[in-house]
Amino acid sequence: MENDKYPFVNLPLPYAYDALEPFIDAQTMEIHHDKYLQNYINRLNDTIKDYPELQQLTLEELIKNAVYLLDPLRIPIQNNGGGVYNHRIYFNGLQPPTGAPPKGRLIDMIAAQFGSLDNFLIIFKAEGMKIFGSGYTWLVFDNGKLRIITMPNQNSPLLLNYCPIIALDVWEHAYFLKHYYMRSAYIDDWMQVINWDIANQNYMQCLANFGKADVITDVNE
Ligand code: MN
Repeated sequence: MENDKYPFVNLPLPYAYDALEPFIDAQTMEIHHDKYLQNYINRLNDTIKDYPELQQLTLEELIKNAVYLLDPLRIPIQNNGGGVYNHRIYFNGLQPPTGAPPKGRLIDMIAAQFGSLDNFLIIFKAEGMKIFGSGYTWLVFDNGKLRIITMPNQNSPLLLNYCPIIALDVWEHAYFLKHYYMRSAYIDDWMQVINWDIANQNYMQCLANFGKADVITDVNE
């Protein structure tokens, strides 16, 4: 991941603010990225500004190690580190609709595990609708299998050692300017702008990391 160490900066979106219209509106994208994500970045930098040893860690390492830290570090790193990491996956995982049917090894694996891509999307949306309050629905890689999970607030799947593939942000700030209270309509629109090529790349990276993890285990034994 680009800019994976302190000081964290807000990387530009890989597309224009209005690129996802009419599914996700330009004003939502601009405020979500430039204000909400920027706030998480500022607070994360502020949290570790007096801790040079933590500044050496990557964003992923910070999140994974937060559980071992005491307050006042653990919760701010979990919230703001997660806020940076989760939003980067969310924003990078979107694109204007291409019209081309999704393909790749991830799509094959989804079909094998969930019956079909359509069936997967139905289950994924149902999980997104279940979240009480703020959080995310994730497609993650867990020990060789795909899994749909929900996480509250900005808790990252990294906290549970899952490898993230697709992130759906269901915080109201992700949709209320256009969809008001209608999370269901937002999720339907979000599904039109999933970047399946990026999702497939994330999946392939998860597979690669999974193989490496096995090798490390063998060496330690
Ligand atoms: Mn958000």
